[in-house]
Amino acid sequence: MDQENLPPHVIIFPLPLQGPVNSMFKLAELLCLSGFHITFIVTEYIYKRLIQFTNIHSRFDQYEGFQIKTISDGLPEDHPHSGDQFMQLFDALRSKTKPLFKEMLTCGDLRHVTCIIADGIMGFTCDVANDVGIPIVYVRTVSSCCLWVFFCLPKLIESGELPFHDDDFDKLVKSVPGTEDFLRCRDLPSFCRLGDISNIYVQLYKTEGQEIARAFGLILNTFEELEGPMLDQIRSVCPNLYPIGPLHAHLKTRLGAEVGSSSEQTSSNSLWEEDKSCITWLDEQSPRSVIYVSFGSIATVTKEQLLEFWHGLVNSGVMFLWVMRPDSVAGKDWEENVPEEIKEGTKKRGYIVGWAPQEQVLAHQAVGGFWTHNGWNSTLESVYEGVPMICWPYFLDQQVNSRFVEAFWKLGLDMKDTCDRVIVEKLVRELMEVRKEEFLKRADDMAKLAKGCLSEGGSSYESLKRLVKDIESMAVKDELERPLV
Ligand code: UDP
Repeated sequence: MDQENLPPHVIIFPLPLQGPVNSMFKLAELLCLSGFHITFIVTEYIYKRLIQFTNIHSRFDQYEGFQIKTISDGLPEDHPHSGDQFMQLFDALRSKTKPLFKEMLTCGDLRHVTCIIADGIMGFTCDVANDVGIPIVYVRTVSSCCLWVFFCLPKLIESGELPFHDDDFDKLVKSVPGTEDFLRCRDLPSFCRLGDISNIYVQLYKTEGQEIARAFGLILNTFEELEGPMLDQIRSVCPNLYPIGPLHAHLKTRLGAEVGSSSEQTSSNSLWEEDKSCITWLDEQSPRSVIYVSFGSIATVTKEQLLEFWHGLVNSGVMFLWVMRPDSVAGKDWEENVPEEIKEGTKKRGYIVGWAPQEQVLAHQAVGGFWTHNGWNSTLESVYEGVPMICWPYFLDQQVNSRFVEAFWKLGLDMKDTCDRVIVEKLVRELMEVRKEEFLKRADDMAKLAKGCLSEGGSSYESLKRLVKDIESMAVKDELERPLV
């Protein structure tokens, strides 16, 4: 094939964290299915984990023109890369990875690039794209409700709502249009509570939040029927949106695979080894009887929080499947302090794994509830499978997502800012027993909308079609403008 007949070549550059990497691989595969050539950029740290725990190469080998390129994240090799070190990763990306990215684009090793698709929180990718004259489309893998809150941070500061003046976290927030009736101070991203607006997190999200309006367009892992009102708010500053989610299900639908299945072809992009024995355990449980507990890939809990959660779960009498990542409890030797009655209760009613095949778990008929930290991927996966939620947000967007789950979509119960065994027990019972039918019905209604948007004519299906067409037009324009040699 000569250069002119080649399909568009897209560079995809995710934020190097489990959630964004996972969803960007799904986007990459969707674009591969449209015949595009893809260069997927991951940091060396992420790449090592990917090849250790996934079949990423064999899965993508089938796509002509797909390649993975690694880049340094600028952190030392022994850096823990965990949640509380988040800012160091950002600083290193901006100072060290940015020049490497530019070099990668200009050194002549890559085929001519039609467009870059990068995580919109990495504004440096847009600087580089502008420098080298390549169009860039942003992706944000957080919820649109949270993205809108990030965008409104300057307004929250100008209006004097931030920093907070007192400890009344239940006060409604006025400066986030469209959420005035239900968004409280406690539902703003966790860094808003730090009391100091010069804080690095506030500054990062205040600046990067404005980024959305800078690129050619913005791809979002959401769907109109779920976040329509928030998408309309975002459109007022960034008109060209491509809401194409839920991505995990969109891809599986296009591949003709069942969502929640575990076929080789559609396996996950997990950075930890999945313990599939929990599926066998779930097979033995009654329909909708189990609460699945997982706080994602970054959140950590203290020893004290862990024991409160554990007591609450055991005391609720509900069957539970719990993901305890090896690094999810802060501090050492906590295992030695687990009381006997908890261990006994867990043997009878619980199952604990280090990492689960989550999509498969949520799709399992035995699962009737999800106690989640409300990372956006987990939230969408739960919405898609019609599983009601208990929300225990850890940081960033999760505080906003959990409020939307409870107060806007009415798909669950928000227990943010509490960590008490009595409350855990009460909420688990409420979700799984007392209001079970009510929550299941609402979750089922939303799941139907999530499925509908992915079929031909559906909102996310049509947005993806438009994205593909727009990138093809960039390739044609590029071809016309390229000097003849
Ligand atoms: N996940 C998984 N197994 C687990 C826990 C999580 O496969 O035991 C996956 C989950 O399906 C989701 C991702 O890890 O796709 C976590 O992303 P999310 O945005 O929910 O949270 P984060 O890890 O970024 O805090």
